[in-house]
Amino acid sequence: MSEERPVYQVRPPEQPQAFCVERVRADFPILQQQVNGHPLVYLDNAATTQKPECVIQALVDYYRRDNSNVHRGAHALSDRATAAFEEARSKVARLLNAEDARQILWTRGTTESINLVAASWGRSSLQPGDRILVSAMEHHSNIVPWQMVAAERGATVEPIPVDRSGTLDMTALAAMLDGRVRMVAVGHVSNALGSINPVDRIVALAHAAGALVLVDGAQAVAHWSVDVQALGCDFYAFSAHKLFGPTGIGVLYGRRELLEAMPPYQGGGEMIESVSFAGTTYNQLPYKFEAGTPDIAGAIGLGAAVDYLNRLDRAGAARHEEALLARSVALAERVPGLELVGTAAHKASVLSFNLAGVHPADLGTLLDQQGIAVRTGNHCAQPIMEQFGIPGTVRASFSFYNTFDDVDRLFAALEKARQFLQ
Ligand code: PLP
Repeated sequence: MSEERPVYQVRPPEQPQAFCVERVRADFPILQQQVNGHPLVYLDNAATTQKPECVIQALVDYYRRDNSNVHRGAHALSDRATAAFEEARSKVARLLNAEDARQILWTRGTTESINLVAASWGRSSLQPGDRILVSAMEHHSNIVPWQMVAAERGATVEPIPVDRSGTLDMTALAAMLDGRVRMVAVGHVSNALGSINPVDRIVALAHAAGALVLVDGAQAVAHWSVDVQALGCDFYAFSAHKLFGPTGIGVLYGRRELLEAMPPYQGGGEMIESVSFAGTTYNQLPYKFEAGTPDIAGAIGLGAAVDYLNRLDRAGAARHEEALLARSVALAERVPGLELVGTAAHKASVLSFNLAGVHPADLGTLLDQQGIAVRTGNHCAQPIMEQFGIPGTVRASFSFYNTFDDVDRLFAALEKARQFLQ
């Protein structure tokens, strides 16, 4: 029967091959195209990553062969869909080194994962006067959900200071941690600046003060293997689309005893054990938090992305990204009027910058005309832009499928734009 089983369920163990950027690029069909008459240089990976052929194929295979609702057990298609859907959960659990797959909840993405914790844990735990700390460089999705629940519960949301280089002030954090801080919510990597936060040290400080830690891992998972047990965090959130998987699905990892104690986030089918007008009882983890028909194809697509990463030489890929960042920083230093925004000692492969006298949006348009895709604006991180006194930046964010030629083309296009604009 094995020939009937979909490809995403049959993965012979493969040894990762040594990293080779040209071989890896061939896995991503979207990269092989011209944009505005130039070969595409895709440098907007912090916004979303591209999808390898095997992820696209897993989605197609699912809809062509197995499409069915999960956990109904009514027929063969439903059984296959359920098996693939739950196998994807196990793959994510192994990817994050979670203790148990039941601690992996499917959500719509990082944003919903954080909203889930803010609504469920926040509403049931926060008391008037409690404090929530977030870093000053957080994405809006790790600020606003906390503000919403804080307003409801009489708690406050306060920023942990970040210096001009984009480095979190750990001394200030230690000083802010008192008995009223209940939650420290920080990004693993800043999407706007690329700074990598020392999550293990943040967790140690926060736990010593009796606070929980939620890590927004949206920008970290694509760059290295995250180990939630080694980090010791209480919650870890990420989006599949930033990890070479589909849009519309994401993950919340949570510590088992916390998830067990938290009330459901949404009500409906799947999340119940029994329903009656006399009283309803809730399902076990993880289903208690998964009301309604889930994004089955999305989960399976994410599972295929995890398989892809497991076949990749991730250490080699990370070294390649570091080299791309180093080259781009070296070239940036030679551009007259270019100011890097975010120069922390520990950075992911994100280059945020401004050109003196030029609005980031204008620069973005001129780069796009030359086939270079970058992001411009405040990157959903208005507070840190305001602190730096800038409307936004141009952000080139690299993935392992980018080449040194991509970096050189970015700077050649920048030079052209600079001469045109200045
Ligand atoms: N957090 C960070 C650091 C991000 O970069 C993003 C997206 O850019 C998000 C959260 C929100 O992710 P999503 O829109 O996939 O929910």
